[in-house]
Amino acid sequence: MLSKKRVFVAGHKGMVGSAIVRKFRESGREDIVTRSRDELDLSDQAAVRRFFATESIDIVYLAAAKVGGIYANNQYPAEFIYQNLAIECNVIHEAHRSGVQQLLFLGSSCIYPRLAQQPIVEASLLQGYLEPTNEPYAIAKIAGIKLCESYSRQYGRDYRSVMPTNLYGPNDNFHPENSHVVPALIRRFHEAKACGASEVDVWGSGRPMREFLHVDDMADACIHVAGLARSIYESETQPLMSHINVGSGVDCTIRELAESIARVVGFTGRLVFDDSKPDGTPRKLLDVSLLRRLGWESQISLEDGLQSTYEWFVENIYLQE
Ligand code: GDP
Repeated sequence: MLSKKRVFVAGHKGMVGSAIVRKFRESGREDIVTRSRDELDLSDQAAVRRFFATESIDIVYLAAAKVGGIYANNQYPAEFIYQNLAIECNVIHEAHRSGVQQLLFLGSSCIYPRLAQQPIVEASLLQGYLEPTNEPYAIAKIAGIKLCESYSRQYGRDYRSVMPTNLYGPNDNFHPENSHVVPALIRRFHEAKACGASEVDVWGSGRPMREFLHVDDMADACIHVAGLARSIYESETQPLMSHINVGSGVDCTIRELAESIARVVGFTGRLVFDDSKPDGTPRKLLDVSLLRRLGWESQISLEDGLQSTYEWFVENIYLQE
């Protein structure tokens, strides 16, 4: 019998890493290796080197990152650029040093220029200025793509990158300020309903457009992309073995999103748009035709995804606080 591949999921407690682990555990075909932050600090190069030297890892899923919404990115730019660069340098370089042949790096759609043509194709990378509210984070994620490309090109490694659109789902960060829009609004509407408030603040004008993808779809896409034959990945991501977009292919305004969340939560009061908060990039919709051509499409509708995420929030966060 063939021995199982040893897959290191870096960041397994985060929203994406935990979804990848859940997906792998459903099939049971792989041997999943995880480390909590206390056990392995990924920004500590020596510790990461020791880890790879002793663990005989076959594939790395690099889902560990310092992430946050528009407010957190604006407030803590140094943490966002430094921690992400450190994690990427350590994990990608030390994986290579220890002979790991396959790696999947998870980036973000904020790598693209602020005014990229919509829907955004993979080739828009580095074709214009970034959105200033998350530029330090985006620069770190672009560096991650370039690390993967460079180790693949120079050393023949098979290091791939996927760029997800805005993700949401279980294990998201539901912090009132530092989170992304979906968890922030789930919490705010739920608390407003619980205390009988008649109105809820929504940041910005409500006019920006965003695309959302449930994290279980994202995990499925990651395993799909990592499982493609190398020759196919290489020929489809020419010229540099670069990256592939992952999204639902559908976007909506922040106002429409807020109305959907209000419906799911059962909040019937008024939405008040707070123009003193930033809108961020005007529109972010990924072109997902490459991934569709490679045989993957999202399965979870926004309405269903919001419903199950709301239930998860109530059981796992709200009732535990
Ligand atoms: P972005 O896609 O990088 O801009 O990330 P976010 O998820 O933080 O924000 C998406 C959009 O939702 C922006 O236009 C925000 O202004 C808007 N938004 C509305 N209400 C909120 C909120 O309570 N929290 C966050 N993070 N964004 C909000």
